[in-house]
Amino acid sequence: MREQQLLGVVGGTFDPIHNGHLRMALEVANRLGLDEVRFIPSARPPHRGEPDATDRQRLEMVALAIEGEPRFILDDREYRREGESYMVDTLESLRQELGSEASLLLIIGSDAFLGLTGWHRWQQLLALAHIVVVLRPGSELMFEKGAKPRDLELQKLYDMHHSTDLNDLKRSCGVIHSLETTALEISATEIRQMIAAGESPQFLLPETVLNYIDERNLYR
Ligand code: ATP
Repeated sequence: MREQQLLGVVGGTFDPIHNGHLRMALEVANRLGLDEVRFIPSARPPHRGEPDATDRQRLEMVALAIEGEPRFILDDREYRREGESYMVDTLESLRQELGSEASLLLIIGSDAFLGLTGWHRWQQLLALAHIVVVLRPGSELMFEKGAKPRDLELQKLYDMHHSTDLNDLKRSCGVIHSLETTALEISATEIRQMIAAGESPQFLLPETVLNYIDERNLYR
């Protein structure tokens, strides 16, 4: 019989994709033994303005960035859907493809996790996937003992589902696991601002992606 499949999902605007995304995905894949990580660009990201780069450009930049890491796969399913790009819909469609047994892990930075209760149908996320929270520099998790929670619903969700036991991730869904990866304090916003100011973001993102940006005069 085939071993159970562990599939990670990294969603984002990727405007542009950078080494912060790539390194955290790689470390999570290695530490949790993932078979595959799907990079899923958000076509119409809720809660934010239009991305600067076009859908196609963001997709092409992700494709360039993940070249050479066979476990990283570009997945354009949010572009093939109408309306806002909700993660719960994406997970539902992945679950339909994978079946009920596979372990599906939504990998998100702690900044994104802290806003989880603002996501569309957030209560259903853990019925479809696990959530792996990656501690992002400058964004502490408020769940340490004694800390006063800012979002009681999120605190409750965390208390009910949090587990440090890696074996729990072999279930198909339902667990919140948090981990620290090498802190790379890089954001796409900062990269766009640097380029607009005429500074080079070299070494904050893959060279192939930087060349792509330069050739098309993006973010100037
Ligand atoms: P922006 O600055 O435009 O908001 P971003 O750099 O935060 O972009 P997104 O595409 O919004 O990138 O992020 C997608 C996912 O990657 C989110 O879950 C986010 O928390 C995570 N992420 C982004 N940058 C990092 C980083 N440097 N380290 C770890 N996780 C990151």
